[in-house]
This record gives sequence, C-alpha cells and structure tokens, in this order.
Amino acid sequence: MPAHRRFRDVIRIGPVQVASSYDGRGRETHTAACTAPGCGFDADYSTRAGAELAARTHRCKA
Ligand SMILES: [Zn+2]
Repeated sequence: MPAHRRFRDVIRIGPVQVASSYDGRGRETHTAACTAPGCGFDADYSTRAGAELAARTHRCKA
C-alpha cells in the first residue's frame, strides 16, 4: 500500500527526484523516481547513497 509517506530531503538530479521517508515501521527508505513523462522509473533503496547513485546514473528512456 503506497500509504501516506512523508518525504523529506527531496532533491532533484536531472529528471530524477530523490527523497527519504519512513515506511511506517520505523525503517528509513530512500526513493528515486524519475519525473519524465513516460519513463516510469521508480525504485526504493535502503541507503540514501544508493538512491542518489541510481538517480545520477539513470538513463532516461523518455
Ligand atoms: Zn527517466
């Protein structure tokens, strides 16, 4: 369930936004999501560094 996640520390790297949030069980999750229409890239990472790396190396299909 993609509930009411509160994102913080939202940054943008190219077309990709990276944000951190808690998943409701007290665990921190880091999300990288591409904002380009038609791309659909969206992934969760256990570390902020991982999410930022994914954003930096993302090759947009759109
Ligand atoms: Zn993309």
